[in-house]
Amino acid sequence: MIKNVPNSPQHKTWVGARGGKSTVLPHFLQNLRYIQSTTDVAKLQTSLNLSLSRALHVYGDHIALLADTGVPPLNLIQYTHLAQLQFRLTKTQSDTLPATLFKTFNKSLALSNLHPSTLDYHIWNSLHQLHIDPLVDPLPHMVTLPHKSRERAYRNLLCTTISTLWRMDLLNQAPLHLPHTKASYIHIAHDDLQRRDLFKPAQYLCSHLDQLPLLRLRTQATSYIPSYLHLANDHTYTPYDQRYCTSCLLIQIVGNELRTLLHCPHSSPLSHPAILSLTRAVHRSDLCSWSLHTPLQQTAILLGSSPPKLLRKHDKA
Ligand SMILES: [Zn+2]
Repeated sequence: MIKNVPNSPQHKTWVGARGGKSTVLPHFLQNLRYIQSTTDVAKLQTSLNLSLSRALHVYGDHIALLADTGVPPLNLIQYTHLAQLQFRLTKTQSDTLPATLFKTFNKSLALSNLHPSTLDYHIWNSLHQLHIDPLVDPLPHMVTLPHKSRERAYRNLLCTTISTLWRMDLLNQAPLHLPHTKASYIHIAHDDLQRRDLFKPAQYLCSHLDQLPLLRLRTQATSYIPSYLHLANDHTYTPYDQRYCTSCLLIQIVGNELRTLLHCPHSSPLSHPAILSLTRAVHRSDLCSWSLHTPLQQTAILLGSSPPKLLRKHDKA
């Protein structure tokens, strides 16, 4: 299900994140389609999150970690596995014994007729969740092609469907004006999340950039940004709007990414060398100049996002 990252030179540096993903994932995806209880899938998701954190040594926010490394939530992956199974049973290998049995037992397509403990129920439920009409061939133009090509094309089609559902879910978690750590990741990664295929990692993880430190910053696994510090010195929880910039305590302003990297008189000078080289880079690449990006876009670019225009070019390529 998870596609391999092409083995080109610029991808070779992505050893950390790619290695982590490919060691961790197969174990969780192997029998995913046979797990029936949503609680069990949720438990599996918790262990996947932990394994990914351990493999990468990035102990940050899981939503951000999954989104940046391109690992969709298991419940969505499960839908695609079941939809692929239905495709195989009804479209590509419909003359086999399992396919004949499936057809016989599923004459009526109503979910209410099926027992929730059956695989058939979960197949129909997945199609329902993915808004797929089981009677329509999703790839009518490929009917004459070999099974393998049709199954691969269907898998790619499902990747796009899942990416859309997942993206909607992520963006819904972050209303624009809600100051919160999760919302803050979504706002920063907003343009990265527009990539068509969210099964691919964010662009910066496929580049020559120093990936793991950036991943740690983006998943809020560091203490450099005051708004990432949930606990005060006495181990009590600090609400987001009270996580002040520690160098500007007199004016009590939330020390979020934007403040720390761009505006704080104490910490922002540290970003100057990076800003200088980024200003030159956007100029060289004939992109919109650095000063024309919004402060949020500038923060996102400092944290590894590609400039919005460049992202669109990559996605088309
Ligand atoms: Zn400050």
